[in-house]
Formats: sequence, C-alpha cells, structure tokens
Amino acid sequence: MKVPFLDLSLQHRALRTEALAALTATYDATRFCLGKDVEDFEQNFAVTLGYPRVLGMNSGTAPLHVACMLAGFGPGDEVVTAPFTFISSAWGINYVGATPVFADIEEGTFNLDPQKLEAAITPRTKGVIVVHLFGQPARMDEIMAIARKHKLFVIEDCAQAVGAKYRGAPVGLFGDVGTFSFYPTKNLGGCGEGGAFTAKDEAILTKARHIRVHGSDRRYYHDIVGGNFRMDGFQGALLNVKLPYLAAWTARRQAIAARYLAGIKLGGVRLPEQPAFGQSVFHQFTLRHPKRDALREHLTKCEIGTDLIYPVPLHLQKCYAPLGRSHGSFPVAEQAAATCVSLPIFPELADAQVEHVIASVNAFLSP
Ligand SMILES: *Cc1c(COP(=O)(O)O)cnc(C)c1O
Repeated sequence: MKVPFLDLSLQHRALRTEALAALTATYDATRFCLGKDVEDFEQNFAVTLGYPRVLGMNSGTAPLHVACMLAGFGPGDEVVTAPFTFISSAWGINYVGATPVFADIEEGTFNLDPQKLEAAITPRTKGVIVVHLFGQPARMDEIMAIARKHKLFVIEDCAQAVGAKYRGAPVGLFGDVGTFSFYPTKNLGGCGEGGAFTAKDEAILTKARHIRVHGSDRRYYHDIVGGNFRMDGFQGALLNVKLPYLAAWTARRQAIAARYLAGIKLGGVRLPEQPAFGQSVFHQFTLRHPKRDALREHLTKCEIGTDLIYPVPLHLQKCYAPLGRSHGSFPVAEQAAATCVSLPIFPELADAQVEHVIASVNAFLSP
C-alpha cells in the first residue's frame, strides 16, 4: 500500500468547484492586492481562531520581518530563537541588522527550553522568537516570565501551529506578536504564498498595517519605513474557502497522531511528548530513532514516504557560520536533527494507510 508523505492534490480536487468559483470572482473583480477577499479572510480567521485582529501578508516570513522592524531590533541587538526550526524563524533578525542567538530545545517537544533561553540572555538581548514547532505549543508560562523579567519583545512563530492551544488559549497572543504562514504545505495552505500577523496591542497592529503598505497611512505619504508585505486577493479568496474545513482537518490530524502514539511500539523509538498544557495541531508527526536512516530505508521499501525535518540545525547552516557556533554548541538540537524522521500526517490519509505506517514501523528490524 502506497502512503505518500504528503499529497496536496486530494484536498484541492475535493474543493475544486468551490475554490475555482471563488478565484474566478476575485479575477473578475480584479481584486488582486489586499481588498475585500483579504479583509473577509482576516475577519473570518480572527473570529474562527480567537484572535482580536489579523493582517494578511504575503508569506510566513513577512510577518516575522515586520515584527522585527516594529520591535525596533537593530545592529548590536541580540534576539534569541531555537536552533531546531525552519530557517525563516530567524531571518527577520538578520533583515533588521540584529544578531540571532540560539538557545537549545528541550528533548520532549523539540521546543525552546526556557532554562536555555534564560542562560542565553545578555545585556544586549532585546527579544525572543518562540516557535511552536510541528504544531506543539512551547512552554509559554515559563518563557513569558523570563521575557517580562528581562523586558524582551516576544514574537511567536505560529507558522506550524494554526489552531493550536496553550492552556486552552490560542497560540500567538501570549507574546507581543503572533505570525502565521499559509504556504501550501501548512495546515491551512493557500494557492501560492501567504501569511498573517496578529497582536493584542492596537498600536502594534496599526504600525504593522502601515509597514505592510510601504510605511504609509495615505497613498504616497510615508511616515515610517515600510515595505510590500500585502496578501494578494487570490490567497484571501482561497483561504476563505478553506477556513471552514480547518477544524475538521485539524481533528483528523489529531486522530491520526493519537493512532501513531498508541500504536507505535518499536523498541528505541522516542515519540513526541504531549504535555498537558498544549494542544498540538500536528503539522508534523516526528519521532526519533538511533537508526533513523535504516528505519527510513525500511519505510521506503514499504512504500511509505517520510521526510527529514530538519536535517541540519540553524547554527550549523553555512549562512550562520559567522556566528561562530559549531558541533556540540546545542546538543539537544543536534541530536534531534541526527535522529528524527517525520511520518505522513495529513487529513486525507485513510485509516488503512495509517495502520500500514504503524505496522511497518513496528516491523522494522534494527540492523
Ligand atoms: C513555513 C514556516 C515559516 C515561513 O513561512 P513562508 O510562508 O514559507 O515564508 C516560518 N517559520 C516556520 C517555523 C515555518 O514552518
């Protein structure tokens, strides 16, 4: 039985009529940049997921960049983030001329370890970018206590955590800014690039709104330095079509994860921990095994797609060589990168496929 790691065609085929009708309406109305579709999506997303207000942007990297701009980070400032994430979590820090500083993750959840965060703080530290990796909320109580003590600006990268809850409340509102991505492979994916920005504070939202359109409030008057971070109309239109399905898709991901957690019994496997404070939306289901490469080969033979997310931690990427970190700097992240493997988890997987994955993992004979 074939089990692809991810198959986006199933969801888009099912929504084809609805999606093309919405996209056609946007096309016919030439609502190409921001406009009604994006405004409707912002409103619907906010209401559905429990955010006060949301701004649509043109990628998941964009709101991180905007957040670093309005936080006022700059040359000489340090901003802490985790070394085990998608690289975009850190890019915004570089874009404003500040310096990324990494703090190791905890073993159980792959998320930032609050103690390591506190140890990484120096007099130059101005902020922290917390990632809710794989859909699993980070330890926000501990992280926010540290952030308040050191007066840090907190950005929550929720790119993989749309709909995730920490102690019953949506991620993205514990810190100063929450950011989302609608890249097609994310839990809520557009038909192209997309992202969103949220905040509780009106002044922050207003500033982000201005930065999004070239730092302007009125056309051709630019009070602050901005950029082009606008969401396009087609994304708003498609995301509006998809949003009503998100809760069911998330429930399906959680049900598949529950099957994996209960059914995978292979010796040596470390399953992702599910602490009681967090309700994961399982963007990925990532386990660890000391013979990861052999396990992957075995699963390939069983026609099961897997992926390495992530094979190289940020501090060992070539682009960050100037930061002067090396092997051994962040042992937990390095160990995760060396032993992790992600299994198929997307809403359209059939029960029989899920059972085939479980049986195949359990049948692995360690070399
Ligand atoms: C996908 C992702 C982003 C950035 O999203 P893009 O839409 O690709 O720019 C940022 N952070 C994390 C953790 C992501 O997974």
